[in-house]
Amino acid sequence: MRLKSWGRLTDYSVDARAIDSRFSAANQLKERPALSHGAGRSYGDVAISQGVWLTTNLDRFVEFDQKSGNLTVESGVLLGQIQRLFAPRGWMLPVTPGTQFVTVGGAIANDVHGKNHHSAGTFGEHVTNLTLVRTDGTERICSETENRQLFEATIGGLGLTGLITQVTIKLKKVAGPWIEAETIPFRNLDEFFTLSKASEAFEYSVAWFDCLSKSCHGIFTRGNHSNSTQPQKPKIPKVFPFTPPISLINRATLGILNASYYFLGVATKGKKTIAYEPFFYPLDGIRHWNRAYGPRGFFQHQSVLPQETAQVALQELLQAMRKAKAGSLLAVLKTTGKRDLPGLLSFGMQGVTLAIDFPNQGEKTLRLLKELEGIVVKHGGRLNPSKDATMTPATFEAGYPNRAKFLKHKDKGITSLFFERVIERKP
Ligand SMILES: Cc1cc2nc3c(=O)[nH]c(=O)nc-3n(C[C@H](O)[C@H](O)[C@H](O)COP(=O)(O)OP(=O)(O)OC[C@H]3O[C@@H](n4cnc5c(N)ncnc54)[C@H](O)[C@@H]3O)c2cc1C
Repeated sequence: MRLKSWGRLTDYSVDARAIDSRFSAANQLKERPALSHGAGRSYGDVAISQGVWLTTNLDRFVEFDQKSGNLTVESGVLLGQIQRLFAPRGWMLPVTPGTQFVTVGGAIANDVHGKNHHSAGTFGEHVTNLTLVRTDGTERICSETENRQLFEATIGGLGLTGLITQVTIKLKKVAGPWIEAETIPFRNLDEFFTLSKASEAFEYSVAWFDCLSKSCHGIFTRGNHSNSTQPQKPKIPKVFPFTPPISLINRATLGILNASYYFLGVATKGKKTIAYEPFFYPLDGIRHWNRAYGPRGFFQHQSVLPQETAQVALQELLQAMRKAKAGSLLAVLKTTGKRDLPGLLSFGMQGVTLAIDFPNQGEKTLRLLKELEGIVVKHGGRLNPSKDATMTPATFEAGYPNRAKFLKHKDKGITSLFFERVIERKP
């Protein structure tokens, strides 16, 4: 089967087979050890290997406890399926990334974060327990009290500790499916930092900025759950219908797109009650939007920078992008809170994250990514494996001090291209 990651950089030829059910998973994995593959929403190569097990057949809801909010599902259930079923009933996922087309297993294996890292941490913090099958055919229940070390290695463990078949996650009680949102234009990065500080009491916050503008003006969005219990009509998403022969996101179009997005944000600034889907998942409004980057695909740089160095580091990163004349449509900033990270390899340390997409222009883009990587390492930051296609083993080791501890729990029968490129190799 041909498999592409979300960044569509490479068309991989892989031997992909489906897990039949959670009851057969241990036998299937023992007979044919291979990496799990969820919904394929990771940008680089964390979900790619010569052999993969597709987990999307594991799509059953198992149990829900109304009192505690504990929901047990199979690991191939999509976050969007949980939201759609439970939001109208007054429950939601406590943490969700910027797309709902992600499996529960994938969300755990990358320990994803959302717009509420400062108030709720990462996805893994809300996992009560999980069932993991290993390539030796054993099945382990992992939680904070049972197989704790394996639990901590599996959260953010990039699928390398085994295949998660079932998960219990604690949902959050909400009134209904609406968010009281507020958008505020900002003129420069100093204003972004001031707004972030002033918005700590809000549950959710995130900012888009125009990285082509000298000032780095942008739109800050913050919000809380609404008390409204009105039902919602889900919108039918549009589809990006084909892959154009060249990237539609380029120097010529970026200026217009970024300026338009900013002015739209200014024109519609202020408070409004909006449905949770456009608030959490604005990019999901157009299915397959990644095709817009053309056949060569695109890279995403996502770093997290420690609070103390974030302001200086961000200026250096933007300077390097300006020097390289590289622009981006998607440039997102988010502050991350001080949390005890649940996984040995969890990405979301305290500070500020920068996520930025670049069309693949070959050598030129690779040089820029290397330069950005150097700046991140110099300032004590780390890169996000789920977005990465270029990080070096040295950068990984510098950013993830628990590498050696993690390797003790790795399943020896499982590998991935990311593991072979980045973790396995000695810097
Ligand atoms: C538009 C968009 C927005 C995004 N926004 C965010 C964001 O805001 N925050 C964030 O943190 N991430 C974000 N992401 C990244 C995305 O949330 C992660 O890459 C997520 O892990 C993808 O899940 P998946 O089901 O597609 O898994 P895949 O991409 O298929 O796999 C991801 C990893 O999980 C492992 N895995 C999958 N299933 C299992 C299983 N059952 N058992 C064990 N391991 C398994 C795989 O081996 C692989 O290592 C975004 C991605 C997109 C495309």
